[in-house]
Amino acid sequence: MDFDLLVIGGGSGGVRAARMAAQRGVRVGLVEALGRQGLGGTCVNVGCIPKKLYHYAAHYAEAAEEARGYGWLGALPTLDWNELRRRRAAEIDRLNGVYEQLLRNAGVTLLHGWARLTDAHTVRVATLNADGSPTHQTWRAERILIATGGTPYVPHFRGREHVITSNEVFDLDPLPARLVVVGGGYIACEFASIFHGLGVHVTQLYRGEQILRGFDDEVRHFLADQLRAKGLDLRLQTGVVAVKREDDGLHVLLEDGNRVVADAVLYATGRVPNVAGLGLEEAGVAQGAQGAIIVNEHFQTNVPSIYAVGDVVARAQLTPVALAEAMAVVDHLYGAAGASPRQARYDLIPTAVFTLPSVGTVGLTEAQARQQLGRLRIYRSTFRPLRHTLSGSPERALVKLVVDDASDRVVGLHMVGPEAGEIVQGFAVAMRCGATKAQFDTTLGIHPTLAEEFVTLR
Ligand code: FAD
Ligand code: NDP
Repeated sequence: MDFDLLVIGGGSGGVRAARMAAQRGVRVGLVEALGRQGLGGTCVNVGCIPKKLYHYAAHYAEAAEEARGYGWLGALPTLDWNELRRRRAAEIDRLNGVYEQLLRNAGVTLLHGWARLTDAHTVRVATLNADGSPTHQTWRAERILIATGGTPYVPHFRGREHVITSNEVFDLDPLPARLVVVGGGYIACEFASIFHGLGVHVTQLYRGEQILRGFDDEVRHFLADQLRAKGLDLRLQTGVVAVKREDDGLHVLLEDGNRVVADAVLYATGRVPNVAGLGLEEAGVAQGAQGAIIVNEHFQTNVPSIYAVGDVVARAQLTPVALAEAMAVVDHLYGAAGASPRQARYDLIPTAVFTLPSVGTVGLTEAQARQQLGRLRIYRSTFRPLRHTLSGSPERALVKLVVDDASDRVVGLHMVGPEAGEIVQGFAVAMRCGATKAQFDTTLGIHPTLAEEFVTLR
């Protein structure tokens, strides 16, 4: 065997597993298709990190306008999109280097190329030579961990070739004046909001009744109202029939017979596991819906030497989930660094949607709690954040608690407002500890903050 563990994929899950295993003295190899440039995977290259940087950029546009209400007068600054792109790319480049260094320092052998399983212990890695011809190398490992992530899914329709996905959106050149975003999930809402904030005329088209299916209904409606109040053209129950390129731009033809003309069309209609060309059939690895790899509680597939974590198993497509799964596998296989092996848990996953204003949530929605529990108590408040009393922004905030009446436990915590992710992260700890409404009530607020609303709801 060349390795004890060969990891396929240098993203959130793969890098964490490789590093942790190598630190326990395991002989680890990691194959990444994109080479050094791609180390860090989706999150670092075309996901969480560049997205959050653009979210900050959009926030500064709002902040500059709001500052007028605080006496900061004069011309508003204008966006240099190329400069933003250049600075983002440089930061991602730096992070790619950090990931490479972390892996090398841990003693991981880095292999660049496209990995394909040929049997339960063998991986064939294809690399392209300078002249474009492929070279193959074969590696044998006692165990293989698949962490190949996901890839955007775009449905079939006429003119599909004209649209882009989140992979391309970061480097649109030039910045479009008009953008159509299709979808109502995390990515669609975030990019619609971000590009609107950057000054682009955005039309968001969603097929369902309300954006962010799966989130608390009040949150969904409240956010939609906030986005519209800022001028985002959000159209619900609107399907796309075709996209046509005309002289004046891309014509998005809608089911209701209308059309929207734009310079770019972003499809954010979900992501599917990245399994094409991976050799899962040859190795006999069982797959479920959309090709997701099926694993047991230890992330082991039906082939005992092959494991899988992260978006490719598609339990919850979030970086902290991929990290938790990676650490659970390493603890299970090579021993826990702490007292007991870590387990990946899927209850109480805190999450944020980085719109402007943002959404933060942990625990059950009101509808889920009604289904799963008995009587509930619901506490909510909507208000104008103090900051906006002078800023002139129409933005409002929502905080909401879902409480199980019998146990008094807070089972759901939701908010729409600035820094929702930062606020909800702390409350997620309290909820993991089983905090009750009475304990929220005896906690003193930090005044004046938005977060104190959660401990003053009555
Ligand atoms: P990935 O990070 O996708 O890594 C997989 C790696 O495997 C890639 O580098 C790929 O090149 C490599 N690979 C694939 N096939 C092969 C092969 N055959 N051979 C060799 N290498 C291969 N999550 C959050 O928690 N917060 C956020 O704010 C957030 N924002 C997001 C924004 C966007 C636009 C997107 C698309 C995603 C976002 N996510 C966010 C989700 C998050 O990025 C993913 O859940 C996370 O990256 C999954 O990690 P992973 O290790 O499973 O896969
Ligand atoms: P989501 O699953 O969140 O949303 C997909 C959206 O596309 C839904 O609104 C869905 O509608 C719609 N849709 C699906 N198929 C079609 C179709 N054929 N035609 C029209 N609309 C369709 O996926 P995203 O692509 O937004 O993001 C992928 C995942 O990445 C997220 O689920 C999340 O786990 C992760 N992510 C996390 C972020 C964060 O933590 N802040 C940010 C970005 C991504 P419907 O609801 O009706 O099915």
